[in-house]
Amino acid sequence: IAGCSGGNDDTIVPGTNAAFAPFEYEEDGEIVGFDIDLAEEAIDRAGYEVGDWSDLKFSSLIPSLNNNDIDLIAAGMTINPDRKEQIAFTDPYWESNQSVLVQSDGDFQPEGESDLDGARVGAQKGTTGESETERLRNEGVIAEDALKRYNNYVLAVEDLEAGNVDAVVVDQPVANNFAAGRDVSVAFVIETGEQFGMGMRQDDDRIGDINDALAEIRDDGTYDDLVAEWFE
Ligand code: GLN
Repeated sequence: IAGCSGGNDDTIVPGTNAAFAPFEYEEDGEIVGFDIDLAEEAIDRAGYEVGDWSDLKFSSLIPSLNNNDIDLIAAGMTINPDRKEQIAFTDPYWESNQSVLVQSDGDFQPEGESDLDGARVGAQKGTTGESETERLRNEGVIAEDALKRYNNYVLAVEDLEAGNVDAVVVDQPVANNFAAGRDVSVAFVIETGEQFGMGMRQDDDRIGDINDALAEIRDDGTYDDLVAEWFE
């Protein structure tokens, strides 16, 4: 049946990539975060059962959704034209730019894109952060072999701390979170003006119920409570 995972229309099975705190990450063997709470609340209020979370590579989320392995992506995923050809997005629930992280005490402290000349720059595979590094390469700012891709952002930041890469491009709130907990800091911000949405299959009519639930979650203050819980 189109639009169903495991043939069950009452359950929405969510998927994420749990290396993107505070939106989604692992704590004591559990997947937690802002997206997790927001998605569960929306699925529940829309009248569906929340299935078991799948933790997947970010680049596997869209194929897994279209394979019916999962029914909903909640992964800080930016709404963009390329993805909109493949999946449907809920109404936006977040806005973000990209931040450039460097070692806090390192010699390399770029103040803008042109200072990345000669730097090795990392990002997570399949992300808009990766697209920004590709743009910098296409513009000739960084070299072809200076672009490093990782399966997740935690690995990218660990490689930055180890000195194997000079900078990491990652969504602003996640960069701030890494900066608060690790030996990295934000050098500068690239104003991309992205919006995050949850992803569902293009033929899944349940997206209307999820959008109604998301609107209600905003209107009654639950959204602000979740922001306060995970970001402040
Ligand atoms: N917002 C970025 C994107 O959609 C990164 C998301 C992520 O790494 N979880 O590509």
